[in-house]
Amino acid sequence: MAKSENPADVRMATLILALKQQGVNDAKVLNAIEKTPRELFTPELFKERAFEDSALPIACGQTISQPFIVGLMTQALQIEKRDRVLEIGTGSGYQTAILSKMARLVYTVERYRTLMKEAEGRFKQLGLTNIITKFGDGGEGWPEQAPFDRIMVTAAAPGEPKALLAQLKPTGILVAPIGRGPVQTLRRYTGDGEGGFTVEDLLDVRFVPLLEGVAKEL
Ligand code: SAH
Repeated sequence: MAKSENPADVRMATLILALKQQGVNDAKVLNAIEKTPRELFTPELFKERAFEDSALPIACGQTISQPFIVGLMTQALQIEKRDRVLEIGTGSGYQTAILSKMARLVYTVERYRTLMKEAEGRFKQLGLTNIITKFGDGGEGWPEQAPFDRIMVTAAAPGEPKALLAQLKPTGILVAPIGRGPVQTLRRYTGDGEGGFTVEDLLDVRFVPLLEGVAKEL
């Protein structure tokens, strides 16, 4: 069977086209998405929907982000291949896997032990060796490994994420959903090299909240 006739390839091609139409046009980002099997990151019940451009439920009442949002946030981060990237909110590990294909090292923090363990299993299965995981409160960042070239927050921060901005290199970039309500603003902070930031509002998004502390349940 020719490659293009494989149903999974067709569905992936359809998804990539949908992302392009919505403005995700960075070839490196699209390539990373294309090479990451999203069905491996979705629960059994939703595997059939892994190629849809929608968020899906995962364990612990959390969600795997919509591919368009993953693409847009990754593109907005302008990652260079030597970068060390911090991600807050590992969740399924889907976004982490995509970051790992674009950066030198990815540090990722999750407050649910179950999600962290499951994600670690997937990274191993996919042979992704440049990801370093931590179970903890990502709101505090990862001070021992700071500063980072790039930081991505995949849960909604109530306000300016000061502790994380403090762990960014002077000309680094941080992307995060900011807001307390059901709809937040995806915001990009770009360091000006002198301790200040240029702040841009990119679009309205819906993320689960960034919660304080680690989860007591599994
Ligand atoms: N990037 C993920 C999206 C996960 S949803 C994916 O592609 O699947 C957001 C995740 O952030 C959830 O797993 C949630 O548990 C986690 N989270 C929320 N607050 C957190 C915190 N303070 N520290 C670490 N992780 C947090």
